[in-house]
Amino acid sequence: MSYQVLARKYRPQGFDEVVGQEHVTETWKNAILKNRLHHAYLLTGARGIGKTSLARIFAKALNCEQGPTAQPCNQCSNCRAITKGSFLDVQEIDGASNTSVESVRELREQVKYMPAAGKYKIYIIDEVHMLSNAAFNALLKTLEEPPPHVVFVFATTEVHKIPVTILSRCQRFDLRRLSQAQIREHLEKICREEKVGSDPASLDLLARAAEGSMRDSQSLLDMAIGLCGDKLQVEKIREMLGLAAATLIEDLTADCLQGKLPEALAKAEDLYHRGFDLRQIAVQWVEYLHDLTLLKAAGPAALGEGVTADQLAVMEKAIASVALPDLQIAFQTLYRGTEEIARSESPKILFDLMIVKLVHGTPYQSLPQLLAGKGLAGASLPASPGPRGTQAPSPAPAAPVSQADSFEAPAPAALHAHPNSDVLDRVLKKRPQLQALLAPALARYWEGERFTVVFAPGAFEAEIFSEKRGVLAEALSQELGTPVQVEVRQEAKGRSAAPVVDQGPPLPPPDPVVAQAMEILNATLQEVKTHGHE
Ligand SMILES: [Zn+2]
Repeated sequence: MSYQVLARKYRPQGFDEVVGQEHVTETWKNAILKNRLHHAYLLTGARGIGKTSLARIFAKALNCEQGPTAQPCNQCSNCRAITKGSFLDVQEIDGASNTSVESVRELREQVKYMPAAGKYKIYIIDEVHMLSNAAFNALLKTLEEPPPHVVFVFATTEVHKIPVTILSRCQRFDLRRLSQAQIREHLEKICREEKVGSDPASLDLLARAAEGSMRDSQSLLDMAIGLCGDKLQVEKIREMLGLAAATLIEDLTADCLQGKLPEALAKAEDLYHRGFDLRQIAVQWVEYLHDLTLLKAAGPAALGEGVTADQLAVMEKAIASVALPDLQIAFQTLYRGTEEIARSESPKILFDLMIVKLVHGTPYQSLPQLLAGKGLAGASLPASPGPRGTQAPSPAPAAPVSQADSFEAPAPAALHAHPNSDVLDRVLKKRPQLQALLAPALARYWEGERFTVVFAPGAFEAEIFSEKRGVLAEALSQELGTPVQVEVRQEAKGRSAAPVVDQGPPLPPPDPVVAQAMEILNATLQEVKTHGHE
């Protein structure tokens, strides 16, 4: 007997042999028993999870000589012809290669005739989403008035591409991806039947690599048997699946999370020279980081059964000193990088760049951490504090307002680099103590020749700085050749709190949103412009 690939040899021939899609098989069995059939069914789901196998079993159930029956006999000439794909009344149409309206018109002619040998004419249209709009419209006419002896079974991996008018006339089944355990169990059964020795680690590897697709798992098992012979060997399978890279990925991740850039780049070089496909490595790496993130967030239970105790130990060590948000950031960096690498002609360059980003990416800090770092923990910025307690700020200097301006909505204070900013930087560079005092300021801005610094409530720097502000004013005046005023403010905790120093006309305090933005960006407010008055 000639060799038959496992996926075909072990294709399920009855509803009870289908793994993991009970919601479909039970519904169909009941519909057949109660004679409540629809005219059109839609099977959706990933590739290789049994859509067309199910459709064929359904076709046999309806056309078996002993049918319609929930258990087709698989012995009668009808059943055998359907299994072979040679039964006249069961047509399998590949939607991808019959997209035209002519194909569908032809089909509409055929459906008028009674079945030749069976009880039903069954049209299985695979990848139905590939049909053209005109073809869908032609199909719709048949679906609107289906002859009683006709049943359509549509299968698709991309249900969103199917017109709603078609969807609304189908009973829809969403097929599930298979779990690793379901696949492993099935592979074990095949190994027993094929008299091939298997071990849990080998089966785990194959089941994991199949990513929920039974067909893929069987193809992988085919390859593994071809490679290993009568007994599966985990090392050979690991090699076959390119999993030798797994160890390197683990090491690479550890380097990146610990900030060891040269080591990480050297490992990338190693992978590259050993002939690994960096696109594939990147995909595996994303999966690994995904697992690490799950492990950090939800513990080992989140990883499923595919992870061995050894792997778990390595993973737990890798994330021991890494915070969850850092892992999430790293995951996002990798995820985006992998997408770019997949499209690139020169993946090595992007792969290296991705590593640099992973190592040198802005370390994640939550807003509370940022605020705590600046002595702002628990500080609530007032919504709109008046600089003089309850007293409203005096209006900005009057200026002619053009007609056009008056139609514009008020804009938030805009940030502009002030011409005096460079001078300030020069002055501060020579006076590190002043610079240090200014560092924690919430805001600093110029208004004409007046320079204002705003501190958080309770910031001790405010008091010291207000004593030293004369020094800064003098230095700035000298540099600019014109008298400069320096002011110090402290954001009020409540409306009654007064600024530490308040000379000259009251200034608008920085908007709380702006103040927070400056904190996060580590920016300084250099100037506040009032809209419509400049
Ligand atoms: Zn039969």
